[in-house]
Amino acid sequence: MRRNPAADALPCLLRVVALSVSPLLIVVGGFWALAAVLEHDGWLYRLTCDVGAFLIGGVAASYLLHELAHLGGLALCGGVRRIRVENSRWRLSLTPEGEMGARSALLVALVGPGTYLLFGGLLYMVAPGSWITWCYLSHVVFLVPAFGDGRTVIVSTRALITRSHPG
Ligand SMILES: [Zn+2]
Repeated sequence: MRRNPAADALPCLLRVVALSVSPLLIVVGGFWALAAVLEHDGWLYRLTCDVGAFLIGGVAASYLLHELAHLGGLALCGGVRRIRVENSRWRLSLTPEGEMGARSALLVALVGPGTYLLFGGLLYMVAPGSWITWCYLSHVVFLVPAFGDGRTVIVSTRALITRSHPG
């Protein structure tokens, strides 16, 4: 039985995300080291906790879960033979190889930001004033056509409309 290509891509995705968020971990570590060296238990300690929670629980975790949601969506696409994890300075993308219809492409593009709207919505009910909540909700910006998810939504939606109304 053939392994799912998403399972093959997972270690590479985790490694790339870990490298991408490592500067955030260094910043959080620096704050903790400073608070420990100064034996500060007042505002610096609270700032360290807040910055750490935002950078790790908000920025890094939402980044990881966004990409895992895309990978999970790709795992459901039967025609995908391989998934390449491509990383540049400002962009991480999962590029499927094989056959993938417009409906599948639309699903995979929507599942990343969509998961965060759902997750951020749940967080909003629990902690409406938290920066972490807004960090998750901000993933909706990836549906703007300037980003890969937004472009894929437009292209795949056009393909579906064209296919259902030819000519
Ligand atoms: Zn995305």
